[in-house]
Amino acid sequence: MFIVTARPYTFTVLQEDARALLREYPFLQSFSIGQSLAGRDLLTFSWGRGEKKIFINGAHHGMEWITSLFIMKILETLSHHYVNGTSVGEIDIRALYSKVTLVACPMVNPDGVNLAIRGLTEELPPITKTRLKAYNGDSTDFSKWQANLNGVDLNHNYDAAFAKGVFMQHQLKIFSPGPTRYSGSHPESEPEARAVANFTRLLLPDLVVAYHTQGEVIYYDFESKATDKAKAMAQTLSEISGYSLDQTEGMASYSGYKDWVIDRFAIPAFTVEAGLGENPLPLSQFEKIYEDNLPMLLYLMNV
Ligand SMILES: [Zn+2]
Repeated sequence: MFIVTARPYTFTVLQEDARALLREYPFLQSFSIGQSLAGRDLLTFSWGRGEKKIFINGAHHGMEWITSLFIMKILETLSHHYVNGTSVGEIDIRALYSKVTLVACPMVNPDGVNLAIRGLTEELPPITKTRLKAYNGDSTDFSKWQANLNGVDLNHNYDAAFAKGVFMQHQLKIFSPGPTRYSGSHPESEPEARAVANFTRLLLPDLVVAYHTQGEVIYYDFESKATDKAKAMAQTLSEISGYSLDQTEGMASYSGYKDWVIDRFAIPAFTVEAGLGENPLPLSQFEKIYEDNLPMLLYLMNV
């Protein structure tokens, strides 16, 4: 196992780990589902040959980059056990490989991740830096940045009760681009959200999980449209991990990725708020996040 969990997970680190993973496990497939505003690839991996398709993604939000590391570590773990013919708990990973295709986009918002970790770096054009600083309340501390480089919160940029989301934003006095919660001018206005939505329409997954931090909470519903099957799965996920189940409230209930998936495809879709503490979660949380979330994902793959 070579993916280290001791450094902040920038896009460059993701690229390095991606190359190492593909070298070690050539049966993994890798492709890009689109580009960020700064032209970074939305790297995506496919593991398994099964009929059942699960799409997972991480780091819709910049400072939640620990979720990208989690997804890469999952791909490494599954590949390691597949090669060795071993099991995790009760689950035979080679059998799982034939049963499921796991498709994973670990970093939906690579520009936001880099901004949160590295701040206003050299490669950003001066005009972009000026704009971002203005979006950030004139501060150069971007450590709590969530949005993309347009100051749009990608997890409020999907076509699910979008107008209600905008109404709620206005209640909170959010009218323009900023570090968090601004939904953009219209659904899928941003290339990153559009790429994820386009890819979802193409893949037609049976189930999706979007990883966020933090709270140790699982969200599974949208406007009471979750199916009984999805509700039962959410209950099991909670029992496996000790994470609580919740309904989103206020503006967090609208225009998110899982909201759109439930609304559009009527399949089980979960937002997992991994870890507990203050964002950005420190790397010292990684092990617990991994241990809580690996069994949940294996259950979803195997069920
Ligand atoms: Zn988030």
